[in-house]
Amino acid sequence: MTNSILLVDDEPGIRKVLSISLADLGYTVHSAENATQALEIIKEVRPDITLTDIKMPGMDGIELLKAIKTQDPDMEVIMITGHGDMDLAIESLKYQAIDFITKPISDVAMTVALNRAVERIEMRRRLNNYTENLEHLVEEKSRRLIEAERLAAVGETVAGLSHTIKNIAGGLDGGIFVLGKGIEMEDATFLKQGWDLVRDNVDRIKTLSLDLLNFAKSDRLEYLLTDPGEPAKEVFDLMKSKAGDHGIDLVLDVEPGLVPVLMDPSGIHQCLLNLVTNAIDACLASDPTVSAQKIEVSVGASQDDGIVYRVTDTCGGMDEPTKERLFQRFFTTKGEKGTGIGLMLSRTIVHRHNGTIHVDSQPGKGSCFSIILPRKNGLTNQMV
Ligand code: ADP
Ligand code: MG
Repeated sequence: MTNSILLVDDEPGIRKVLSISLADLGYTVHSAENATQALEIIKEVRPDITLTDIKMPGMDGIELLKAIKTQDPDMEVIMITGHGDMDLAIESLKYQAIDFITKPISDVAMTVALNRAVERIEMRRRLNNYTENLEHLVEEKSRRLIEAERLAAVGETVAGLSHTIKNIAGGLDGGIFVLGKGIEMEDATFLKQGWDLVRDNVDRIKTLSLDLLNFAKSDRLEYLLTDPGEPAKEVFDLMKSKAGDHGIDLVLDVEPGLVPVLMDPSGIHQCLLNLVTNAIDACLASDPTVSAQKIEVSVGASQDDGIVYRVTDTCGGMDEPTKERLFQRFFTTKGEKGTGIGLMLSRTIVHRHNGTIHVDSQPGKGSCFSIILPRKNGLTNQMV
């Protein structure tokens, strides 16, 4: 690799002779007659080495050396000194000149100084290459690790889902068998049992497909300027009668005058639906004589001008161990009926919005899930 060199000397004679020798040695040579000009050339061509006279009118060689080293500590500078300038020569070494040569300049002394500079430059290049390679290597390895982890996660998810689907199929099979018996024997008890089994398992399929939808959704979100009340209203309309059927009072409270915000409306819809479904499940599992069965979905402005959704229930709450594991994949306390992916996915969707989701819960009383979406969320109006 050809190295370039900048020669700085106020004497035209010296510039001429040295330029010829340096070009002979294979360098690309630029020259300047003073320090100011030198700094301009450096800015433009960034030579590998600067060879400068120490004594020059105006800014001298030491000043130039200091200026170069502040801008670019990696540039090698060789000083040219007169016979009596030993003190200056030594001072220049203090300021990181790589070497100095004395006038009149001998070819040998110049070659030695230049070789030192070139060696240093090449060592630095090798080191840079090595570090860069190392960075690439680390990047590549991390990428593979993440990929492997992702595949493992998909594998685990599929395994978990197959298990759930197998259970549902088993439940349906059982239900159909019992229904068949009921029809055959014209037995109302069998009919009722079979019917219940079929209905429960169809419910489980619904939950599962909802969670799966969420799963697919979390990967592809489409951010649109949305009225924050909209997803909450939809979920409320969807679940109102189901809640009512079970004697649960589902209410909606939307703060008026909320300004539209960028979000994926169907993603947020899925999150809220999951929170309300969970709250209904909690109500069904709790004792209505102990706690009132009420679920409130609310939408309002958050402290920092964002949006806060809350789903609050009065249905039993949860204990500390449940609260800790809530968002983990496949964590469910609903046995065969749960998939344990709803909250994990809701959280993924909320995080994609640069938002947060958290839970407050009092055992024996109830739980309150809140989703906070920042207004300045850094999202753009597009698919990501
Ligand atoms: P799943 O509903 O399939 O169990 P989720 O991820 O949606 O999975 O919820 C995980 C667990 O969190 C539930 O099994 C339940 O134990 C707990 N949970 C979630 N919401 C509530 C709530 N409102 N009240 C009590 N427990 C809850
Ligand atoms: Mg759920």
